[in-house]
Amino acid sequence: MILVVGGAGYIGSHLVKELVEKEEVVVLDNLSTGHRESVDSRAIFVKGDLGNEEDLDMIFKSYPIKAVMHFAANSLVGESVTDPLKYYENNVAATLTLLKVMTKFKVKNFIFSSTAAAYGIPTVEMIDETTPTAPINPYGHSKLMVEQILADFSKAYGLHYVVLRYFNAAGAHESGVIGESHDPETHLIPIILQQLLGQREKISVFGSDYDTKDGTCIRDYIHVTDLAAAHILALEALLEGKKTAEVYNLGNGLGFSVKEVIETCEKVTGKQANVEMADRRAGDPARLVASSAKIDSELGWKAQRNLEKIIVDAWNWHQNQRY
Ligand code: UDP
Repeated sequence: MILVVGGAGYIGSHLVKELVEKEEVVVLDNLSTGHRESVDSRAIFVKGDLGNEEDLDMIFKSYPIKAVMHFAANSLVGESVTDPLKYYENNVAATLTLLKVMTKFKVKNFIFSSTAAAYGIPTVEMIDETTPTAPINPYGHSKLMVEQILADFSKAYGLHYVVLRYFNAAGAHESGVIGESHDPETHLIPIILQQLLGQREKISVFGSDYDTKDGTCIRDYIHVTDLAAAHILALEALLEGKKTAEVYNLGNGLGFSVKEVIETCEKVTGKQANVEMADRRAGDPARLVASSAKIDSELGWKAQRNLEKIIVDAWNWHQNQRY
């Protein structure tokens, strides 16, 4: 049985939908940002907190957990700057409680959602796992601190782990049954699609004077279903004992500017966006593009879905958003 912490969140719920095809799944989520409706009905759902030792004890006593996949975190860069306590408490301290209880129950396998924010402002075109980590905000620091804790737990207690550093997760399940739903929404693709649906007046482009081809920021957008597939491969590698302590980037290896994303959304939907140029947003690096060559060569993972497919699936979801 696999415990998915944060399985009612955006990425967690997409992973659960794939994982229930292969394994028995328990989801733990406090529903602070997640949605109960997004959890596949084949998974057992427990409402509780990963920072609460009693909730965790109950789960590890009740179910034969062989691995934990940990998605539960706060993930807004701007908020982490104004409220670092929330980020260190929820992302670091609560994760430490989870790892403590795992150690107590001798559960050895762990998959951790990390982030491109671990790299800060990189000086290379393509970021690989040897690129130095240097976060520039508390969110990135909180994730990197957990990565360090995992490395230390691995050496001291024999914990086996895989860290997955996501670039820009986007898109929705092809069925349209689950998708991205944040309140407030801050991410580019949902904001564009909401504007195209008439739910917002305009789209603000945060900065048009970056040193990039069209002056807007470049990001590496990765379909949430491709992310889910990478987690399943990482889990199999852990359970088969092929990997014991690894870090992988997850991206498409392609960079798209904010303007290009808006243009692709217009093309997919056949609608015209209302766009304004605005000031830069604090903490935004000009370009973040991943090399995912390591996970390709070691686990055979490649992103299968391009930007257009991401937007087709997101559009399908946003037109009939269920939660
Ligand atoms: N962005 C933008 N307008 C928005 C939201 C985002 O111009 O309303 C830009 C943002 O500055 C960044 C890119 O779109 O360059 C992706 O931002 P998002 O918040 O989706 O993801 P992040 O890269 O911050 O994880």
